[in-house]
Order: sequence, then C-alpha cells, then structure tokens
Amino acid sequence: MVLSIAIVGAGPSAVYCAEALKTKSPDARIDVLDRLPTPYGLVRAGVAPDHQGTKAITRVFDRIVQKPGVRFLGNVTVGGDVTLDEIRGTYDAVVLATGATLDRRLGIPGEDLAGVIGSGAFVFWYNGHPDHVEAPADLAHVRSAVVIGNGNVAIDVARVLAKTPAEMSKSDIAPHAAAAIRGALISEIHIVGRRGPVEANFTFAELSELGRLGRCAPVVDAADLPADAGALPEAVRKAKEANLATLRAFAAADHAGKPLKLRFHFHAAPVAIIGRDRVEAVRFQRAAQTFELPADLVVTCIGYRCATLGGDAGAIRLDDARGTVSNVDGRVAGGLYAVGWAKRGPSGVIATNRPDSHAVADRIIGEVGAGSAKPGPDGLDRLLSARGIRAVSFGDWLKIDAVERAAAKDGAPRAKLVTFAELLAAAAR
Ligand code: NAP
Repeated sequence: MVLSIAIVGAGPSAVYCAEALKTKSPDARIDVLDRLPTPYGLVRAGVAPDHQGTKAITRVFDRIVQKPGVRFLGNVTVGGDVTLDEIRGTYDAVVLATGATLDRRLGIPGEDLAGVIGSGAFVFWYNGHPDHVEAPADLAHVRSAVVIGNGNVAIDVARVLAKTPAEMSKSDIAPHAAAAIRGALISEIHIVGRRGPVEANFTFAELSELGRLGRCAPVVDAADLPADAGALPEAVRKAKEANLATLRAFAAADHAGKPLKLRFHFHAAPVAIIGRDRVEAVRFQRAAQTFELPADLVVTCIGYRCATLGGDAGAIRLDDARGTVSNVDGRVAGGLYAVGWAKRGPSGVIATNRPDSHAVADRIIGEVGAGSAKPGPDGLDRLLSARGIRAVSFGDWLKIDAVERAAAKDGAPRAKLVTFAELLAAAAR
C-alpha cells in the first residue's frame, strides 16, 4: 500500500512535515492544501516585508514541494470546499498545519473601539493577505500609535510604521499598505510591555535594528534598566545582557534630528482603552499608579490562538489556554495530527518548525505508515472536480509569482497581488 497524507495549510510547519514524510516514506503521496492560492503561510503573510532575507527560505521550500509525489493545491478550503471528514476518509493521515490565525484579546474595556487592531489583522494587511485588503484602521490622522506587547511582532509592527518609504523600497509590503503608512503623520510610537526589559521577548537582531532607522529614534529611560540580567542560565543571560546593552545605548543616544520617537515603556499593564467613537488613549497600571498614553492607533501584539475548521464534525477541540488545537505530541485523534503553531502555540521562528514537524512525521509513519486502500490524491481530485473547484497547482503559483515580480518597482522584489480575483486570474493565465 502507498501511504497518502493530506497536510492542511502550506506554511513552514507543513512543508517541513512533507519533507520528513517524503524522506521516511519515499513512495508516499502527499498533498499540501491551502485555502489561499499562494504557498508558504506566514513566510508570505507574517514575516515582515522588509525582512527579505528571512523570506529566502522559500527557495528551500520550493524544492520540497516539487519532489515527486508531493503536490501543492491552493484555493482549496478544508472545512468549506471539502469537509475535514471527507479528507480524513480520503487519506491515511491528515495533518493540521493551520497555524494560529486569531488574535488573542486583552479582555479590557474599550478593546472594540475603532482604531484598536490585533497584530494578526495588522500584519496580514501590510503583507497583502487577501482576507485583509481593507485597511484595519484609518491611518491618515494617526499621530500617536501604541503597540502593546514586548515580542518580535511588536518590534515588526513598530518598525514597519516607522521606516521611511526609502527604507521600505526593497520590501514587498502590499502597495495599498505602503501608501497608507506613507500618508500617516505619526510622530510618536509607544511600545509597552507589562513586564521588564529583561523579561521582554525581543531578539537582539530585531531590537538593535531599531537603532539604525532613518527618521526614528528609539527612546528609553535609563532608570527603567536594571544593572544586569540577574541569575539566569548562561545562554539566556547572555542574550538578555545583549538586549540590555542595546537598550542602554538607546537611552544614551542623542535623539535630536529624528522626528519620530519610538518610546519604550516597561512594567505597564493595559487596563482600559479610552475613547468616545474611536480610541483616544490607553490607560496602563504600573505598580500602584495608573497613567495614560495618547493613542490614535493601538496594535495589540500579544499572541495568537487557533481557529477550528468549518465542518470539523467535532474532531478538533481547542486548548484555549495554550491557543492550540488539543493534541498530545502532535496527535489530535486517530489519523489526525497537528504541527506548527496549531500544535505548540504561537512561538518560535521558522526553523523551530523543522525538528517539531519531523517528530510528528515520525509518529505518523509509526502509526499509519503501512498505508491503506484509501484513494488519497485521486480521491481528492474526484471530489474537487465534481464540485467544480479549480485548485491552484505549484505551476499556477509560479505564474502568480512571475506576474508579481514583473510588476515590482524601485528595487522591490515583487508587487503583491492582494485579492483572490487577481491571484486566481494570474494563476489561470
Ligand atoms: P511573544 O514573543 O510571545 O510576545 C507576546 C507579548 O505579548 C509578550 O511581551 C507578552 O508579555 C505580551 N502579552 C501577552 N498578553 C498580554 C496582556 N494581556 N497584556 C499585555 N501584554 C501581554 O509573541 P509574538 O511577538 O507574537 O511572536 C510570536 C513568535 O513569533 C515568537 O516566537 C517570536 O519570536 C516569533 N517572531 C520572530 C520574528 C523574527 O525572528 N524576526 C518576528 C516576529 C515574530 P508576557 O511576556 O508578560 O506574557
């Protein structure tokens, strides 16, 4: 019997899972399905558009999804075009690589005011995700933006708002987002953590890049910085000391001449978002005191949680505390697995997914490696054709890619197509 596997989602965890399955079971037939017409999940829609070096991993992914017996099928919604039950009946195993697509909520008053946006929606918008073409907020009148959270996503959001058009010119930011940010009048960005500078999750490369921005100065109060990182395991301590040194350099720098200030605030927990028709300020609590920061835009960068798939017939339960699909070491139910953020929650960089997905692939081979008489890819093709659904193949994606690259201007790698209609038209050329 030939093993057949459907991976739902085409981001890094999906591709690494396909890589390992193909290595361990060379005859396996693997379909990587995505709701979008484009592959690679957060590499396209999450990684910041000015971090093109990170996106270069797609060259590795291209080789994996073109291996014999592996197919990319975009524009196929599991839980819409086909149900999860149907997919499970068609393949020996199904792997959920669906990520954590929903923003976590702060749970404080005022969170639903206009101008308050989760980082997921904001990042998808500036990266040209077809579900997020509409601007999530009117940026035209934003003078003061508050970014809540002390992780790398908070830094990405602050940096994309702060960079000049020239600094973004070699990025693949969605053209409509670039225009909206260019038209904003932002003079202050506040980045606020509920814990201290040692506890912040920033990585050194991301934090230190903020000191090299053209029009934006990172502003830190030296009094907020402890003398050292304290007692921590050696590797962690070194990373934290490096961050502290960077923050000290920001505190000592001369900020004159840079019109946009990026102000760091620590030990400040958000307690209310204030405004009449739209956000006007955020109230924070620090020790026994409260204070407010003016805000025309608030982006909450506080993590993500998983969504279920439509028509999942109860097989997928969510673990709300971890923000994941309920699973034990990647096993969700018989023949159903999870990888990536659906498995472990919204943490880690692209490379974190490789060993994680490989371990789940080992488990799959151990549990269903003998294969069965299920029809696999041929069965899916029959289902899609009966329903008139035209999947986007890897070759079709290359046509989208070529159109985007041909439209690029001023040194940008591509001009993204951002609506389903444009993407599908390019795929059908
Ligand atoms: P993260 O690193 O977990 O940061 C989330 C932040 O939100 C933390 O500072 C957390 O504070 C804070 N937070 C959570 N709940 C909050 C609340 N109710 N009120 C105030 N603050 C709250 O997550 P992330 O920034 O979303 O990034 C996700 C993953 O992607 C991370 O592993 C990150 O490194 C990775 N990533 C990497 C890059 C890169 O390498 N360039 C870029 C982007 C993302 P506490 O710590 O106090 O909980």
